[in-house]
Amino acid sequence: MSQPAKELHHSPAQSSLSVDEARAYIFSQLPKLMGDESVAIRSTLDRCLAETIRSKSNVPSHTNSAMDGYALLASDIPTSGNATLQLIGSALAGHPFLGEVAAGQCVRITTGAMLPHGCDTVVIQEHVELDGDKLIITAGTALGANVRQAGEDLSVGSVVYSPGHKLGPADIGVLASLGVPEVRVKRRVRVAFFSTGDELRSLGETLADGEIYDSNRYTLYSMLAKMGCEIIDMGVITDSPDAIRRAFSEASEIADMVLTSGGVSVGDADYVKMVLDELGEVQFWKINMKPGRPLAYGKVGNTSFFGLPGNPVAVMVTFYQFVRPAIRTMQGEANVEELSLTAKLAHTLKKAPGRMEFQRGIFHTNEHGELIVESTGRQGSGMLNSMSRANCFIVLKEAQTNLVSGDKVAIQPFINFF
Ligand code: AMP
Ligand code: MG
Repeated sequence: MSQPAKELHHSPAQSSLSVDEARAYIFSQLPKLMGDESVAIRSTLDRCLAETIRSKSNVPSHTNSAMDGYALLASDIPTSGNATLQLIGSALAGHPFLGEVAAGQCVRITTGAMLPHGCDTVVIQEHVELDGDKLIITAGTALGANVRQAGEDLSVGSVVYSPGHKLGPADIGVLASLGVPEVRVKRRVRVAFFSTGDELRSLGETLADGEIYDSNRYTLYSMLAKMGCEIIDMGVITDSPDAIRRAFSEASEIADMVLTSGGVSVGDADYVKMVLDELGEVQFWKINMKPGRPLAYGKVGNTSFFGLPGNPVAVMVTFYQFVRPAIRTMQGEANVEELSLTAKLAHTLKKAPGRMEFQRGIFHTNEHGELIVESTGRQGSGMLNSMSRANCFIVLKEAQTNLVSGDKVAIQPFINFF
């Protein structure tokens, strides 16, 4: 491992790290995920391009009408009063008018039909009167009106998308309009994960005193599914060094990334640390954040490893702040910056100086168009319900102290993610 890794490794001076320092370190160590694949465009939603897409043709390929009306020469449109033109044919979408249109003539045209030779303008049907094959037009339509020029959307040879572009529905439509049936995209990250804890039971089992259902595997699975990862759920592993050693060895052979929850704090049964020290190069951090203070990051062989805290809210917060940008980068996404907005607090908010906090909030726009944010209420790191009801994190810097109603705060919206 490189120098900074050694410096950080178990160095007491560095045992408490800021969120930004942890993120920077993670990015400096992130393995490049090799490999891309050819995929039919219908199956590329949310995948990242591994190639440059250039337009092989103009879009639209031919100059055509944007409206139903009459194609004609702008020079025939009067500046005042009426003019009468001779109707000589029609152009429908997919059925062009093949003749030449001269001054004094016009052609009936529908939306999407190729503009006939000689014409430069379309007058919409609501603005004309038709008397047999005589068309009566008035002033008011400008040269080029209601016409879509060939190549006005995309011109031949231009770069449409660069590598690292994440494909959305509009992009997939654009690829189809260019006639591209499949593209090369980065492969998905394969992520294995397991929960640790003797108190954890799987669904369907009965709970004895002191036992709880494992919820982290369900939130982790769902977040990974949202990110399009290949997912390997390895279940619950007991707090035993042997079991944890076996699970890590197996996971690091089959996955690009291993996630665990629990067992990274300083409790007696926290063997994750011990085993990882043995198997790989891993940092154990107390990050200056709330929730999510204990976090481990490193490598076991070529596999990157995140040891997330056990508390259910801390799992989701640390996933969002560290694991998600790491996966997006590994999956080839060029820009992984999260959206940050400024909102006005609806009430007072407690904040002790020292740690960066990711409180759960609900934002909305009030009747004056201002972004307002309120807390979901109690913020215990085991209270998963606060995540369910939230649509953003209220991000409070380390030095920040108590806030009052009307104060401006940074929010990270996560609509559609949690
Ligand atoms: P740990 O980091 O292992 O000490 O766990 C911290 C807290 O999170 C404890 O209250 C655990 O019971 C709880 N916890 C750990 N793993 C899970 C899990 N998979 N699902 C729900 N709660 C968990
Ligand atoms: Mg535990």
